[in-house]
Amino acid sequence: MSGEMRFLSKTHANPDRSASESRSTDKMAKMNQAADPSAIDFPPYEYVTGDPGSGLLLLCDHASNAVPPEYGDLGVPAEQFERHIGYDIGARAVTLELAKRLNAPACLTTYSRLLIDPNRGEDDPTLLMRLSDGAVVPGNAHADQKERERRISRFHKPYHDLIETTLDLSLQSAPPPVVVSIHSFTPVWRGVPRPWHATVLWDSDPRAVRLMLDGLRRQPDLVVGDNEPYDGALKNDTMYRHATRRGLSQVLLELRQDLIANTGGQLEWAGRLEPILREIAQDAECRTIQFFRSRCDAD
Ligand SMILES: [Zn+2]
Repeated sequence: MSGEMRFLSKTHANPDRSASESRSTDKMAKMNQAADPSAIDFPPYEYVTGDPGSGLLLLCDHASNAVPPEYGDLGVPAEQFERHIGYDIGARAVTLELAKRLNAPACLTTYSRLLIDPNRGEDDPTLLMRLSDGAVVPGNAHADQKERERRISRFHKPYHDLIETTLDLSLQSAPPPVVVSIHSFTPVWRGVPRPWHATVLWDSDPRAVRLMLDGLRRQPDLVVGDNEPYDGALKNDTMYRHATRRGLSQVLLELRQDLIANTGGQLEWAGRLEPILREIAQDAECRTIQFFRSRCDAD
């Protein structure tokens, strides 16, 4: 797992401060000031400025397996952090490579999902996992309401505020962007191998999803999943709160982690996804606001 670091030694999370984005970054700076002073040593997100008019916003919810020093190791053995339960292996590198190639803004977290899962609503019982794929997380077992609120305000909220601010900025300067979220999944789950190389998770808005599925299926060497192994409709997850609720076109990709565990695989997959994402960014229908009722809100 070369290239992946358990602990971030230095911040790489400072938003770039180009003149065109001073307003947005000022707001972000205020958000950081308002947060805990420890945010200076361990910023809760990594931000790639990109071009707000690129037509895409890239997200990586599970980019890092790092835990801020004040939490030690949450009582979890080091090797567990290297597994998929700590983070989405390879997802950060693919996201950054795509951001570079597509000149797209990108928002990534800097902390392990074992600390708090940014892809869950604040009231979701799995926000702080006590048990993850058989591994106990002692540092979460005794987290009380106050601690839960601290982690929300220190890690969860700043990431979601960043996404919101970045979307606001894009909407000021261009037709609405498509929200693209990059995740990775484990090739074997509870002893059962999974057949897919990549899968697309989605709720109700088919616009970008259809183009992504078509683009992946045109690559004959791939087995492509459609809402497998999970259903993409999850109330108050990242896509629900930022894309579905705002009527923005969206696609969530799950890539098999062993295919993107090293630099060669990460570049290969960025190359596979780049032309499809360009097509999506240029699609007129994907670049409009249309509201599709979430299946979470069906009843
Ligand atoms: Zn993930």
